[in-house]
Amino acid sequence: MLPVVSIVGRPNVGKSTIFNRLIGSRKAIVDDEYGVTRDRHYGESFWNGRRFNVIDTGGYLPDATDVVVEGIREQVHIAIAESDVILFVVDTEGGITSLDKAVAELLRKQDKPVLLVPNKADNDERTLNATEFYELGFEELYPISAVNGRGTGDLLDELVSRLPEEKEVPETTTPKLAVVGRPNVGKSSFVNALLNHERCIVTDIPGTTRDSINSKLTYEGKDYILVDTAGLRKKRKVKENVEFYSTVRTDRAIKECDVAILMLDAMRGFEAQDKHILREAEKYNKGIVIVLNKWDLVPDKDTNIHKEFEEYIYSRAPMMEYVPIVSISALSGQRIHKVITVADRVLEERKKKISTPELNDFIGRILKEKPLPIRRRVPLKIKYGTQVKTSPPVFKFFMNIPEELPANYRRYIENKIREEYGFEGVPITMTFKKK
Ligand code: GDP
Ligand code: GDP
Repeated sequence: MLPVVSIVGRPNVGKSTIFNRLIGSRKAIVDDEYGVTRDRHYGESFWNGRRFNVIDTGGYLPDATDVVVEGIREQVHIAIAESDVILFVVDTEGGITSLDKAVAELLRKQDKPVLLVPNKADNDERTLNATEFYELGFEELYPISAVNGRGTGDLLDELVSRLPEEKEVPETTTPKLAVVGRPNVGKSSFVNALLNHERCIVTDIPGTTRDSINSKLTYEGKDYILVDTAGLRKKRKVKENVEFYSTVRTDRAIKECDVAILMLDAMRGFEAQDKHILREAEKYNKGIVIVLNKWDLVPDKDTNIHKEFEEYIYSRAPMMEYVPIVSISALSGQRIHKVITVADRVLEERKKKISTPELNDFIGRILKEKPLPIRRRVPLKIKYGTQVKTSPPVFKFFMNIPEELPANYRRYIENKIREEYGFEGVPITMTFKKK
């Protein structure tokens, strides 16, 4: 769990420029497929051996000037709630404004460490002028130039010294199930229904993370940690940019879980955001279960309706047919415990280990069934393979010309592995090395 640094300040003081400097431009690259917000305003940084996440809260300010003050207020509240250190950016070129004073007042009223950063101090003269910002009532100033880098080293030294000690999170072997999905699909309702279910035993985990509420759940003699990404927003009752922060939290919850439970609303479509969450879970090689909630609202539930829903979802997320889909009603409690049963099955699948002799016997058979093509006038050959890792499973294959392996053959191998060994709900990593 990395500490979080937020950047706040009125428009045009240079927040995004500082953000980009902190996370490095490579992270600012726009991701066309998934939309841009996340990558432009949230990223990871590194200084003196410390890693931390940076949030540029500035991207969420309304344009109209009459609502800027309200917008900044919201931004500051979020920064206070979400972060460990706050960078309060002002502008040496423009001097102190009433908005700066308003922000300063909000920030002085709370306990999180705040570093006052007069930006655009591109030269000695501007750096000297920055002293005027002592008027805002902070002990220290850290003048910088986000553009030419002046002063940023000192600022970062101070910043990392203020980060909380890296907590050695006690390594728990209890599997983590993260309930993720768009707002209003029913995540909290589901979590609450489970927690109230007579067959589940629940223990509160005190002092859970900043992002989510975790509960220990015991079901059929096994323990799980249930990570509720929606609960906190509701509990906190702070008005916030729901979409943005739910994306940030979802990302973090996915990174830390063992199984991501993606919740969908059966009455709404499968959208880009859902696909993004799926791909994210796949990228981090987490176990995945899709839950179709609000099944009580689905009309005409004939025998094929579940199948139709499955086909619809798989058609929107190609190559993810390995992900199980459970339809439930959080409202009535219908099949909610089945989600845990399926998640548990996925956890077991994730641990599965195929022995090397068995795998090579299997490779021999599938190569015979569909021979590899000829490339550069030599027949491609896979010599042997081995499963090098479990939870998540990673397979390594050795072959003569790995760079020539056709993508469709790769898919063929994956499909065959799944046909033979299952790995339901589990992304499989395959690497091909030259030998
Ligand atoms: P934000 O609205 O606070 O995110 O501000 P931006 O990062 O978009 O910057 C606003 C303007 O200030 C842009 O034109 C930047 O190029 C400029 N700017 C940012 N940092 C510096 C700096 O250190 N020196 C100078 N001279 N200009 C800067
Ligand atoms: P979250 O934002 O994903 O946590 O969603 P909530 O749990 O707050 O649910 C959003 C809305 O959907 C609420 O009004 C719930 O009462 C409703 N809801 C949740 N689950 C179900 C369900 O299974 N069936 C029906 N009909 N409504 C549901």
